[in-house]
Amino acid sequence: MQEFFRSLKYIICLTNMMKTRFLLLAFFTTALCTAQEDYRRIHENAIVVDGHNDVLIRAVRGRDISMRNSLGQSDLVRFREGGVDLQFFSVWMGTEYGKGQAFHYANVIIDTLEALCRRNPSLIVRVNSAAEARRVIAGKKIAAAIGVEGGHMIEDRIDYIDSLYVRGMRYMTLVWNSNHWATSSLEEAEHGDSLPHKGLTEFGRDVVRRMNKLGIMIDVSHAGEQTVRDVIQTSIAPVIATHSCVYALAPHYRNLKDDQIRAIAKTGGIVGINFYPGFLDSSYERKSKELHRTFKPAIDSIRAAHRGDHLAQSIIDSVFRPYYTAIRPPLSLLIDHIDYTVKLVGIDFVGIGSDFDGIEILPQELDDASCLPVITRELLKRGYSESDVKKIMGGNFLRVFEAVCR
Ligand SMILES: [Zn+2]
Repeated sequence: MQEFFRSLKYIICLTNMMKTRFLLLAFFTTALCTAQEDYRRIHENAIVVDGHNDVLIRAVRGRDISMRNSLGQSDLVRFREGGVDLQFFSVWMGTEYGKGQAFHYANVIIDTLEALCRRNPSLIVRVNSAAEARRVIAGKKIAAAIGVEGGHMIEDRIDYIDSLYVRGMRYMTLVWNSNHWATSSLEEAEHGDSLPHKGLTEFGRDVVRRMNKLGIMIDVSHAGEQTVRDVIQTSIAPVIATHSCVYALAPHYRNLKDDQIRAIAKTGGIVGINFYPGFLDSSYERKSKELHRTFKPAIDSIRAAHRGDHLAQSIIDSVFRPYYTAIRPPLSLLIDHIDYTVKLVGIDFVGIGSDFDGIEILPQELDDASCLPVITRELLKRGYSESDVKKIMGGNFLRVFEAVCR
C-alpha cells in the first residue's frame, strides 16, 4: 500500500512539473508570437520613408520593376512587402555624362519613373509634397518622390534647377563625386589643400539659394566637410544627408563626423543612415579587398573558360558568394549607427536612406527592400518606444519634407 502511495505521489509531482513546463513553454511561445506580431503591426502602422534608392538606373536600362525580380534589391513587390510608404527615387548618372548629356539623362530617368507610375496606378503614385504623400499612403499606395543625385546633373545652369523642380525634384544631392561648384568628400579626402577651391563657390551658394527659394531639400551626402559647412551657413532651410553613416563608428570619408551631424540637426534636418557595409563596418572594405585578391585569379580563369556564354557568372556566384556573404556585417551594426545618432542629437534627426540597388551587398538579415521590418524589430529590442521607432522609420523624414517642400 505504502508503495502505491509513493508511486501516486511521484506521478502527481511529475504531472505538476510537466504542467509547469507546459505553462512556461506556452507563456514564452505566446510572448514571442506577440513580440513578432507587435513589431510587424508597428512597422505596418508606421509611415516608412526611405530617403534614397537607386533602382531607377536599372529600370532605365530595361528592367521591369513593377514585378518581383530575382536580381537586385528592390521593386514594387518588395517595396510592398517591406512596408515602404514613401520612396525617394534617386535620379543619377555618373559624372562621365557631362554637359549636354547629364540634364537630358535626368529627364529620361524621370520619364522612366513617370511611366512606372502611369502603368501601375493602383500601386504607385508620384508625389511632390508631404501632403500628397499622406493622401497616397492613406489610399494604400506607394508614394514616389524624386531626388536628383549630383549637382553635375544641372550642368552649371540655375534654370535647370527650375526645370527639374517642375519635373518633381524635391531634393538634390549637391555633389556626387565632383562638379565645378562644390567639392565632394572624395575630392577633399584625396586632394585636400591642393584643390583649386574647397567647399561651395559663389555659384554653388546661388544654387543653394535657388533651392531654398523653390522649396527643394538640400542633400549633403557625398559632400566634403567644407561644402557641408558652407551649405549650412548659406541655407535658410533644414539640410539633409539622405544616405550617410557615422564617422565615429566607421571612419570613412563618406561618413559624417559628430560636429556635422550636430550641425545638420541644428538646421532641423535629418541624417538617413545608409545600409552599405563599407560605411557601417570599418573592417568591411579590407575584408572585401582580401577576398577579391584571393579569388581574382580563379574568377578570371572561369570567365576566360566561359567566354561568350552565361555560365560564368552563375558558376562564380555559386562558388564564391558564400565567402562574400560571410563578411556581411551584422544587422546590429546598422542599428548602432542609428542609436549613436539618436544619442548624439536626439530622436528627431535620424532616418533611413537604404541605397538599395546602388550597392552590391547589405548587412545580414537585410537582403532587400522586403526585409525592412527587421529594422523595426531591432529598434524595439533596443528599447525604443513605438513612437520613437515611427519617427526613425519615416516620421522624421516626412517632417522635413513637409517643412521644406511646400
Ligand atoms: Zn550616393
